[in-house]
Amino acid sequence: MDDIISLAKRRGFVYPGSEIYGGQAGMYDYGPYGVELLNNLKAAWWKTHVYDRDDFYGLDSAIFKDPRVWDASGHTSGFSDPLAECKKCNMRIRVDKELEKIGVTADEKMSEADLQRLFDENKDKLQCPKCGEKDFGPVRMFNLLVKTNMGDFTGEMAEPVYLPGEACQGIYLNFKNVVDTTPAKIPFGIAQIGKAFRNEISPRNFLFRTRELEQADTQYFIRPNENKDEYERIKQRRMDWYVAMGIRPENLRLKQHENLVFYAADAWDIEYNFPSYGFDELEGIHDRTDYDLTQHTKFSGTDLSYFDPQTNEKYIPWILETSVGMGRMFLAFLSDAYTEDEVNGEKRVYLRLPMELAPVKVAVSPLLKNKPELVAKAREVYTMLKKEFGAVAWDDNGNIGKRYRRQDEIGTPYCVVIDFDTLEGDTKDTVTVRNRDTTEQTRVRIEELPGVLAR
Ligand code: ATP
Repeated sequence: MDDIISLAKRRGFVYPGSEIYGGQAGMYDYGPYGVELLNNLKAAWWKTHVYDRDDFYGLDSAIFKDPRVWDASGHTSGFSDPLAECKKCNMRIRVDKELEKIGVTADEKMSEADLQRLFDENKDKLQCPKCGEKDFGPVRMFNLLVKTNMGDFTGEMAEPVYLPGEACQGIYLNFKNVVDTTPAKIPFGIAQIGKAFRNEISPRNFLFRTRELEQADTQYFIRPNENKDEYERIKQRRMDWYVAMGIRPENLRLKQHENLVFYAADAWDIEYNFPSYGFDELEGIHDRTDYDLTQHTKFSGTDLSYFDPQTNEKYIPWILETSVGMGRMFLAFLSDAYTEDEVNGEKRVYLRLPMELAPVKVAVSPLLKNKPELVAKAREVYTMLKKEFGAVAWDDNGNIGKRYRRQDEIGTPYCVVIDFDTLEGDTKDTVTVRNRDTTEQTRVRIEELPGVLAR
């Protein structure tokens, strides 16, 4: 993981947030190559869940919502993690996660007192991850919602407006709007990629647990109790998607939740085998029953039941949800693509990203940057390829070996080099194309380049 974090920084994928001020826990900024990979992942996800489906609709809901939304969803009362503070170094630990590390499962429904009892029973085995001390203060439930004073001019934050604890609430708020303004008929889905914020007690593991996150969610609205088969299909489709996008199947597994939140009928995680810390939750797949629309009907006073023209029945739809953090997805793809091999006796690092996800599709280089005839021809090729592929890089920095190594680390599938053979003789108007994964070089006619590279 350290190698991956270091490459992410060195090659302009991910920078620590507010770095010039010393960095801020749980915050990261995506650099020029990172934002490309992130956008490519979002586009691939959107294509599968919106464009490739005729029963799905897209949405982008506002971050700020009526504060009652978070009462209805249960977040103001129940969106809490148990916290304890080390008496020696003041490090705050998340009690359930520390218990998990020693093989003890804390039930999500446990009260503060029950958690304290479980914590005390295992006190000998728990130590502060920072200073190693075993002396902690009391277990307290800590609400993760982030409060803001949006629209509050008292100066006292008397009535806070919350940042979303989960992005999916925007979908429930617009269920009726989508039904009323599109041809949507149950069963149908709404897809959204939206921001969420959580006052995580201990942000950790790079992009895995951050305080600001983006969630790619699908909510599939179905008839009451018609959930079982569709739920199985959704689970399988999401697993297949990761594999189709290039994740090694052996790094993925499905795991069922042992303790369900009170309203859920079933819940599974897709886990990814993260380097250094192993299998952990990548995406949640939840059978949320009719809880969300029932709650919002109750709290808003707006009837969110649905009249089904096929069955002539009126009911509150059930919801099957998939939810994945884009940062966790980014980390999984970056980790899976990170490859070390040996070329001519030297260690090489490259990102084995598919063309669709690679931040740069092709890099174009003149062999020597001080030969105007090479540079002019290379510019022509660069302009042509840029029109075709968009994300094309001009790279004339350092010698060719250095350029290949740089592009390998960015994950650029092809490097095109314009040399003296491009300008004259039998090889006139041909260029060298170097393949990232095999390092093989072939000569291709310039006019055939777009077709060859696309294939
Ligand atoms: P965890 O148990 O790891 O805190 P969760 O069960 O609370 O996660 P959900 O509320 O189901 O997570 O959120 C759905 C998805 O959002 C998760 O599978 C994960 O990909 C992502 N996610 C949740 N919290 C974070 C976070 N703090 N940082 C990055 N991604 C997150």
